[in-house]
Amino acid sequence: MEECIFCKIVNNEIPVYKIYEDDSVFAFLDIRPISKGHTLVIPKKHAKDIFELDEETLKKISSASKKIAQKMKDNLGADGVNLFNSSGVFAEQTVFHFHLHVIPRRKDDNICFTRAVTAKEGISQEEMKETAGKLKIGE
Ligand code: AMP
Ligand code: ZN
Repeated sequence: MEECIFCKIVNNEIPVYKIYEDDSVFAFLDIRPISKGHTLVIPKKHAKDIFELDEETLKKISSASKKIAQKMKDNLGADGVNLFNSSGVFAEQTVFHFHLHVIPRRKDDNICFTRAVTAKEGISQEEMKETAGKLKIGE
């Protein structure tokens, strides 16, 4: 993907603070960090989102993210971490090359990943059961 900004990062065409690299995964500091150390972990091969990403590479991204999370705890004073991915415009994805955010969290950092929608809408037990039925894998 010629115009993809993250492909350019993988190809060293745009400078970043690199955290990790192997044959299929690349990780670097987010340019607009939510907290100090906010890192993006991406596949080297372009995949738009979770739907396009192959499972094997996702496993490698997960594994790298765990190592990075541990570093944040050991060396960056993180008391916890958030891992998240936005896939799709309606999930607020803005760069269309898959990336997992790894965000160090610290006691009293005042960052809040709220559960606002769920809390507001209120989901009945019936809907919960129906939803679980639709999402259930196996059995
Ligand atoms: P998302 O909104 O989940 O698609 O996240 C995209 C992320 O990419 C944002 O947190 C941006 O700050 C980050 N980002 C965009 N361009 C760059 C760049 N050149 N270097 C590092 N991070 C970037
Ligand atoms: Zn790309």
